[in-house]
Amino acid sequence: MTKSQPTANIHSFESLATLDGKGVRYGIFFVGCPFRCVYCHNPDTWSGEGQRYTVDALAKKVVRYKPYFGKDGGVTLSGGEVLVQSAFVAAFERRMKKEGIDVALDTSGGVPVTDDVKAALRGAQMVILDLKFWDDEHYVRYCGGGIGNVLDTLDYCEKINVPVWIRTVIVPGINDKEDCIDKYADVVRGYTCVKRYQLLAFHTMGFSKYEKAGIFNPLKDTPALDRKRLEELQTYLDKKEITND
Ligand code: SF4
Repeated sequence: MTKSQPTANIHSFESLATLDGKGVRYGIFFVGCPFRCVYCHNPDTWSGEGQRYTVDALAKKVVRYKPYFGKDGGVTLSGGEVLVQSAFVAAFERRMKKEGIDVALDTSGGVPVTDDVKAALRGAQMVILDLKFWDDEHYVRYCGGGIGNVLDTLDYCEKINVPVWIRTVIVPGINDKEDCIDKYADVVRGYTCVKRYQLLAFHTMGFSKYEKAGIFNPLKDTPALDRKRLEELQTYLDKKEITND
């Protein structure tokens, strides 16, 4: 009797995106997330049953796009929280290595750094890590979970020397002041694996997903962050020169 292959629970795909990682990317969004960030624009990825894929079936979907990836592109594994399904992710990365396809992991760092998570982090060519807040108190208040796993993830990335891009969503009235940026910089300073730190603007494009899923949206009265304000804060952060690109 042949052993059945493990499967991943996949929410959706995005062909040839350019935002999450270097070059042209194929995005795969995994179901599941331990956090409940107040500003989440993908609440439909938190739980439930998406489409089931084996490593073979998922690899087949990605390989067709290989000609478009060029020198820098590849596949970005995201979510939800991709590392909830870390054993599958590590197996999928081994398959991508055989195919010569670059893998970027886009993670919140919200899951404990188990052996499977370590294997998944080691199997990626780069990690995009969300740093949502600078301390436990704010993480618990706005994300429903602590900062501990996030810092453990960053520590492990430093240990294995995988390049990391940090990202932070800036939300009006919550973390849009210069003294907040000072605190984020204090967390990241000293990590040589951090190659880029990008601030992202809170936007309201995911609001309809809350309505559709019947989930309470705690920021329904919060406006999108003004683009000019985002640029000011990014410039303020860049002047601190805490990244090592
Ligand atoms: S970690 Fe990402 S997917 Fe999970 S709740 Fe936060 S923003 Fe949403």
